[in-house]
Amino acid sequence: MNKKIGFIGCGNMARAMISGIVHSKFIEPSTIYASNSSSGKLNQIRDDFCICTTDDNLKIAKECDVVVLSVKPHLYGKVIDQIKDFIKEEAIVVMIAAGQKIEDNEKRFNRKIKLVRAMPNTPALVNEGMTAISVNTLVTDEDKRFIQSMFECFGKIEFVEERLMDAVTGVSGSSPAYTYMFIEALADGAVLHGMPRKQAYTFAAQAVLGAAKMILETGTHPGALKDAVSSPGGTTIEAVASLEKSGFRSAVIEAVIACVEKSKNMN
Ligand code: NAD
Repeated sequence: MNKKIGFIGCGNMARAMISGIVHSKFIEPSTIYASNSSSGKLNQIRDDFCICTTDDNLKIAKECDVVVLSVKPHLYGKVIDQIKDFIKEEAIVVMIAAGQKIEDNEKRFNRKIKLVRAMPNTPALVNEGMTAISVNTLVTDEDKRFIQSMFECFGKIEFVEERLMDAVTGVSGSSPAYTYMFIEALADGAVLHGMPRKQAYTFAAQAVLGAAKMILETGTHPGALKDAVSSPGGTTIEAVASLEKSGFRSAVIEAVIACVEKSKNMN
């Protein structure tokens, strides 16, 4: 591979990605670089993964073949202004921030630049990430294969049209948070009926993991799977009816809509 990968901004998402890349042995840790504006997280990540760290974003820009912009969305303008004249000619810049459009950031660079827009999620930390990827016209098929392999170090990927990126933020980028809420609520219900809390989280989380696997591994429609476990006059259909009465599906759809709208308006 022989490419150097650099991360500008070394928070939760960069850490999840670096962990996946190092553990999968995709490239040598010595060819991974990370910069951050404060030193605490940098020292921690250097100690944990033996990668190269720096407080100088320009070092990443000058040395790396793939530069991941892993700062918060509102910092993109500032960071791109700082690095745009130092990025290597053939470098691929990967944007992972919610709401950052390829076209707007091409303008920020004000020169021809290979841009990838990706939306990962934090289950990357346990190699179960889901990443959507879009690219601009300068990104070659070979570049795409490299980027695909990089993100596959920590989960599944799909190339999507850029217009779908806000929907991706709603359905996978941010959805671990709402799924944790569901798991917490499931467990609370079990605690209410006497189950110890720790045990309740195990039951709830494993049930959600298993249900997700059933969809991914059998390819069966989620509605058909729901019907298959809802026996006539049984316990499950009682719970399903109760959820419908409380507007469960509508609440989830509204949450995704709110997330998508926020993502659309983040620039
Ligand atoms: P974070 O706050 O944990 O990390 C951002 C890091 O950037 C911080 O460590 C901060 O010190 C550093 N930083 C700030 N200014 C800097 C600068 N000028 N130069 C270098 N470093 C600087 O945020 P995060 O959750 O890791 O999110 C990073 C990006 O990933 C965001 O754009 C977010 O939209 C995207 N993202 C996050 C998730 C998620 O679930 N956390 C999912 C998908 C995409």
